[in-house]
Amino acid sequence: MKTIFGIDLGTTNSCISRLNQGKPEVISIHGSLLVPSVVSFDPAETIVGSRAKNREVLHPETTVSSVKRIMGTSEKIIIQEREYTPEDISSYILEYLKNQAGEICQEEVESVVITVPAYFTDAQRRSTQKAGEAAGLKVERIINEPTAASLFYNHMDSAQRSDKSESLVLVYDLGGGTFDVSVLRLGELSEVLASTGNTRLGGDDFDQAIVNLCLEQIMQNHGTDLRQYRPALARLKDAAEKAKITLSSHPFTTIQETLIPNPANHDIDLSLEITRDEFQSMIFPYLQTTRKEMDRALQEASLSAGDIDSVLLVGGSTRIPAVTALLEEYFGPSCMPPVDPDLSVAKGAAIQGGIISGSHIQQVLIDVNPHTLSTEVLENIENMRLKCVPIIPRNTQIPVTRSELFYTVIPYQRLVRVGVYQGESRVPEENTQIGALDLQLSPSPAGTPVQIEYSYDLNGIIRVRVEQKGYSVKREVDLDSSRQNQMFLVVDMESEPDMEDDFEETPFQEQQTTNYILHKARGILEGLSDEARKNTLSSLIKHYETSLQRDDEDAVDEAEEALVDYMDELQDREE
Ligand code: AMP
Repeated sequence: MKTIFGIDLGTTNSCISRLNQGKPEVISIHGSLLVPSVVSFDPAETIVGSRAKNREVLHPETTVSSVKRIMGTSEKIIIQEREYTPEDISSYILEYLKNQAGEICQEEVESVVITVPAYFTDAQRRSTQKAGEAAGLKVERIINEPTAASLFYNHMDSAQRSDKSESLVLVYDLGGGTFDVSVLRLGELSEVLASTGNTRLGGDDFDQAIVNLCLEQIMQNHGTDLRQYRPALARLKDAAEKAKITLSSHPFTTIQETLIPNPANHDIDLSLEITRDEFQSMIFPYLQTTRKEMDRALQEASLSAGDIDSVLLVGGSTRIPAVTALLEEYFGPSCMPPVDPDLSVAKGAAIQGGIISGSHIQQVLIDVNPHTLSTEVLENIENMRLKCVPIIPRNTQIPVTRSELFYTVIPYQRLVRVGVYQGESRVPEENTQIGALDLQLSPSPAGTPVQIEYSYDLNGIIRVRVEQKGYSVKREVDLDSSRQNQMFLVVDMESEPDMEDDFEETPFQEQQTTNYILHKARGILEGLSDEARKNTLSSLIKHYETSLQRDDEDAVDEAEEALVDYMDELQDREE
């Protein structure tokens, strides 16, 4: 039986898939499942994929990307005085996929199913079909991307999804250049009830927001305006995209670029730290637009959010935590089954190919973490109430690494204790604690960032890493999630805090530290019953107060250290 391959011809990336022993698989080309939908023209050859994407930075004028945005239009692309239609460019991408997959699978790729957005007009569909034919392919069928994603979802392990024979699904597809929302009824036959979107909204806009920030900083630091200079823009866009992707799993990142091209050939370097919060507030208006489109799609389908059984995430940009937060708020928690946002469309296309060719199709299993993994933090300093904050939400596809930033609450905080919890509650006692680790901190002011990172691998091993940012104090342990309540530590690596470390405090922080130390010392003094200890502590407090009055910096430091050390000693004995 001949294989009918599936092709997801995306705006940013494309991929090719097939059924392998009844299971859909995406074919890895040069080590990557996603092939950038980029074509670059070298005088000697036409280059496609990641090599073309790399050339975009140096040769933006001979490189074409995001051609899907103009499919079906009469727009022409002129490269080195030669005219290309959007169809021509797409056919180069399709031909590349055909040739590469053929070589890898040792089987000629003849027939395919190609996916297109549900909103594509007839002209756009025909144009896609023609591109396939120009690439030497027999296009068996053009199917809608949301339909393909739901086909794949329908073939997932039934235990992981609602067991109703018919279900209502919303596909939220946020890619590089387009946003699509479709409402489908899945049953024996799947039916698109409504489909809306915005063909000019996607990850590229988020990259551009970061690029604008970089341009502003370059303008401020170097007085150079690079807004119209394509080589610099291509370079910054690349860096911005990398930063954006990092922010999906880390709370902050730094863009470091040296020798940014500029017309005057000046040395322009850039170092810019961006936090996830800053990034998410920059893209907030875009996400609000997607929210309005969801309202519209539901209205068109005469449904409300409560009617939807599952929300399928499609497109690389749905990995942004603010997107999942928006959907959870809109549809309630646990509305999203674990569908790979990059590959489900291509896998669905392979399933469609299998259906056409009459192949046997097996159920698909996806590995996910079954419970939310959270850490315990102080919710309220007055009453010392603790709460659980999720680091890896349940149903996240594994392997996965996520980190979050937390802050010390008091100056000279000596320790952070990372409690690792499994479960869906925000109340620690209602979850299962699977481990804990302590990190001794170097002396630092209150509000010092501490990064907590969890990784979950395919064997269910959870690696917990905690780091006091800026002080290189870190510790890492492995926990075995299957051995609940045993606090089973597999590996433990740590770096020692530098207790000689000192920190620069602002006058306000200094005052706070002093107040805190005196307040704490007087509290301990009140509770002491041993006379000798009482006398020692009392004289250390007096000594500290006198040195503060004398305003002698060295004497203050010395008295403060003696007092803090003695308080620690008393506390250690108590423990
Ligand atoms: P697609 O068109 O579905 O291939 O999606 C591509 C878009 O997803 C690009 O804008 C990527 O930068 C973006 N993207 C991919 N991975 C991530 C990620 N982990 N976080 C945020 N955006 C991502």
